[in-house]
Amino acid sequence: MCHVLLANIKFLQQLVLIDQDLAEQTRFQGCPCGGALHQAHFPRKPRSCPSEVRDDFAKRFSYCCSQCRRRMTAVSVRFLGRRVHLALAVVLLSERGPTPAVAMRLAQQLAVSPRTVARWRQWWRDSFPVTALWQTMCGRFMPPPDMTLLPGALLARFAGDGDAAMKRLLMFLTPLTGSAAITLRAGR
Ligand SMILES: [Zn+2]
Repeated sequence: MCHVLLANIKFLQQLVLIDQDLAEQTRFQGCPCGGALHQAHFPRKPRSCPSEVRDDFAKRFSYCCSQCRRRMTAVSVRFLGRRVHLALAVVLLSERGPTPAVAMRLAQQLAVSPRTVARWRQWWRDSFPVTALWQTMCGRFMPPPDMTLLPGALLARFAGDGDAAMKRLLMFLTPLTGSAAITLRAGR
């Protein structure tokens, strides 16, 4: 897997643009009650994030209904749920892959503790397969990916070179990241 993506500022900026679009869609749809949505972004102190793009990752796009006060958080390719680490890091560092030493060195550089990486791997192994997203979509992957080799086995199914496939995987995962995801998602 292409660990260098985490240091690829252009790629990270593309993720910001995608999230801005996704946020705009959420705002445009409005609240189910018919009320307009107002900005109520969550501040984030992003971790495993290069300093060049830290400001762009310092907000999780979210809205609040002007009528019923319901909160609507946009889905995201930057963050996987409430985790403070970048979704990209959760994918890349969870990978055991052919070069675990590279992943381990990268985790050290980004100050991600082995315990955190172990928790992510456990999430891929135990929680991801039972998410509503995977239960709904797994039939589209034929033959089924080796679930003991996630997330790499899943990434390998998305077309394109390193960046394009990763972007598709992060888009695929976005249903796990919005308001509705909080109750669907197990683990952290
Ligand atoms: Zn409302």
